[in-house]
Amino acid sequence: MKFWHKYHPDIDAADPRFKQVSLIYSILLIMIAYFAIIGTLNITLFYAPEIAFFDYLGLVLALIIFRFVSRGGNFKVASWAVIVSIAAVLLAFVHLAEGRNYSLMWVTILPPFAFFLLGRRNGSWVSAIILVYCSWYLYQLIQQQVTANLGLGALFNFIEVATAQVFLFRFYENSRQEAYDQLQKTAITDPLTKVYNRLHLDNTLKSLVAQANRSHQAVSILLLDVDHFKAVNDKYGHLIGDKVLIRLCDVVRETVRETDAVGRWGGEEFLVICPNTDQQQAIQFGQRIIENIRAEAVEKDVHITVSIGAATYSAGATDSIDRILSSADENLYRAKRGGRNQIVGGS
Ligand code: GH3
Ligand code: MG
Ligand code: MG
Repeated sequence: MKFWHKYHPDIDAADPRFKQVSLIYSILLIMIAYFAIIGTLNITLFYAPEIAFFDYLGLVLALIIFRFVSRGGNFKVASWAVIVSIAAVLLAFVHLAEGRNYSLMWVTILPPFAFFLLGRRNGSWVSAIILVYCSWYLYQLIQQQVTANLGLGALFNFIEVATAQVFLFRFYENSRQEAYDQLQKTAITDPLTKVYNRLHLDNTLKSLVAQANRSHQAVSILLLDVDHFKAVNDKYGHLIGDKVLIRLCDVVRETVRETDAVGRWGGEEFLVICPNTDQQQAIQFGQRIIENIRAEAVEKDVHITVSIGAATYSAGATDSIDRILSSADENLYRAKRGGRNQIVGGS
């Protein structure tokens, strides 16, 4: 576990904010260590107290932001605060070291931070604004002939490196984001039916139950099992069986609401999680699913029916998630025993 986990116990590795939070804390720790060391070196070794002042200012800003996020502050605000602090310290350094062109080299550390923390769009804008400003500042220095070793060549080189940096990081961030999105999708999707997999259903159910408690609402689940599916496989073959499951999932997805989560619980069993849904509404939903599936030839002339076990979690109840699931399972068993092609709810 990461050291910051004690500040944010609700953010685990499956949470989409996990990477961003990790990054913010890593950057803050680097800033704290870096500014403390460089500030001290500037005082003791390089006799540059005016530059050390800005290093310590960066250190104080990093500590303030650290305190802000660790006490539950908004991550987006914290990301912007980190970038603005880095940019402010870098620009102060560029101005203080006027004429010494190595100070401009430091500005090139901004784009990677800006792209990682602010994303492609905002990262591009922030990097471009700072780099254009620095090019303009460099141009002023050349005009004023502050030092002899700054010529137009320096300006062009700086502009070339700056432009390449923005485009390279943008390209890199694009590919990273695409690969990440793809991976994220694969990790939560059932490969055959393209509905959510069991891992994602578990996580969704956990977070929706927590949300139901906060908003004093109910969450219902529908556990759905294809009736006599073995017979479908035996009669039409496994490949047709697979197609039936794919089409079945399409019908279920078309029937439920956008906010409901549909996933494969295993084999020919599927789970629908319905937030803000009480028992009566859940039974109505289930009925609609049963009717739509019955009405549809899910694959050529193959007709199937399904049985559903429903269960509802009401805000503040002491039921565990396992208890809700086993309640749905028992109801499914009752629906099967009652003749299939039906829904059973209640506990
Ligand atoms: P019941 O009405 O009691 O649920 O009867 P059933 O035949 O549906 O139940 P059973 O548990 O006996 O059989 C389930 C079948 O589902 C057996 C298994 O081969 C089939 N099955 C599970 N996963 C898949 C899959 O991914 N593709 C195909 N084609 N069949 C599958
Ligand atoms: Mg089954
Ligand atoms: Mg079955």
